[in-house]
Amino acid sequence: MAEYTQAKRLQALPPYLFAEMDRLKQEQVKKGVDIISLGIGDPDLPTPPHIVEALARAAADPANHQYPSYEGMLAFRKAAADWYRSRFGVTLDPATEVLSLIGSKEGIGHFPLAFVNPGDVVLVPDPAYPVYQAGTIFAGGVAYPMPLTRARGFLPDLDAVPAEVVKQAKILWLNYPNNPTGAVAPREFLAQAVEFARRHGLILAHDAPYSEMAYDGYRPESVLHVPGAKEVAVEFHSLSKTYNMTGWRAGFAVGNAAILAGLGRIKTNLDSGIFQAVQHAGIAALTGPQQCIADNSRIYQERRDVLVGALREMGFQVEAPRATFYLWIPVPKGFTSKSFSVEILAKAGIVLTPGSGFGAAGEGYVRAALTVSVDRIREAVERIRKLGIRGS
Ligand SMILES: *Cc1c(COP(=O)(O)O)cnc(C)c1O
Repeated sequence: MAEYTQAKRLQALPPYLFAEMDRLKQEQVKKGVDIISLGIGDPDLPTPPHIVEALARAAADPANHQYPSYEGMLAFRKAAADWYRSRFGVTLDPATEVLSLIGSKEGIGHFPLAFVNPGDVVLVPDPAYPVYQAGTIFAGGVAYPMPLTRARGFLPDLDAVPAEVVKQAKILWLNYPNNPTGAVAPREFLAQAVEFARRHGLILAHDAPYSEMAYDGYRPESVLHVPGAKEVAVEFHSLSKTYNMTGWRAGFAVGNAAILAGLGRIKTNLDSGIFQAVQHAGIAALTGPQQCIADNSRIYQERRDVLVGALREMGFQVEAPRATFYLWIPVPKGFTSKSFSVEILAKAGIVLTPGSGFGAAGEGYVRAALTVSVDRIREAVERIRKLGIRGS
C-alpha cells in the first residue's frame, strides 16, 4: 500500500498537547464520570432569538441561495462599519476597509499567505491562540515567540525582540483582551505597538474577538482608535463570542485597505464567502438590540467571582480578569501545566486546559473557561477542595 506521508508544513506544526487530555477525558466519560468541562472557549448561552429569526427569514428567501459576493454583502460590511463607529469611535469605509470572514479563524489562518514569503518571520505572542502560528507555518514563515509574563501584565516586550529578527518580520500579532491569559492592553501599549509597526514596516494584526466580553465597567478599545493606526493595522473581529454565535461562522476584518485587499485576494481564490442568510443574521446582530452583551457579561462576571473567590480561598494566586471568559491559574508547586490538568481530570473529573498547550511560556499555568453554570462551578470547586490540593 502507498504511504501517504503528510507534507512538511503539517509535520512542522507543534505537537498537539491536548490529544492526551482528550484521550483521558474519553476514558473518564466511559467510566461514567460526571465531567465538568472548563476546557472549551465556547459560550454555553444561546444566540439571541431576534438573530435566529433573521436567519430563518433569510434562509427562506431564494435570493440568498446562490453564491454570495467574495468580500461580503455591502449591507453586512456597512453594518460592521456602523457598529465600529458607534462602539469604538472608529470611522471605516465599508467598501474598502471592511472584509467579511467565515469566522475570524478563517481570516487569521489565511492572512500570512498574503504577506509572508518562505523564511519570513511573524511575531507571535506566547502563550497564544494556536492559529497565529499555524497560519504562519502554512505560509512557510517562521513564528518568533514573544513571551507574555505575569510580571509584564501579559504584554509582550516589543523592544526585547532582537533587531535582526525584527528586520525579517512581516507581521506582528497581538490579541487583547487576551486568550488564554485574560489580560487587557492599556491604550499606551496599543499606541506603542502601532509606533513599533510603523518604525519597522510591519503589519500590526490585532485579534479582538473578546472586545465585548468585559467586566466591572471596563470597555476594551480598538487598536484603530490609536491615531495613525489605519496606516499599519488591521483588526480581526468576530460575532462568535459577542453574540453567542460560534457555530454560525461570521466574522470580519477592518482597517488598512491595502492590507485587507491582500487577504481578500487569497480568499477570492479559496472560498466563496459567508452564506448570505448568515450575513443577514449578522446584520441583525450588529444593528439590533445589544442587550445580550450586557446580559452575557453579568453572567460571566458572576461565574468569575465565584471561581476566583473559591480558588483564592484554596491558596491559588489567581487574578480576576477584566475581560474574556478565561481564568489563567498558576499551578501548585510540584506540578507542571500538564501534570496538574491530568491530576484534576483523573481525580476530580474536571477538564482544565494545560497552559503549555498555548506555547512554552504558558508552562506553569492552566486555563479555566467560565462556560458552565455557577452551580457546576461550585460543584467543581467542592471536588478540588476534597482533593486537598492547595495553590501556591
Ligand atoms: C474564539 C477566538 C477567535 C474567534 O474565532 P471565530 O473563528 O470567529 O469563531 C479568534 N481569536 C481568538 C483568540 C479566539 O479565542
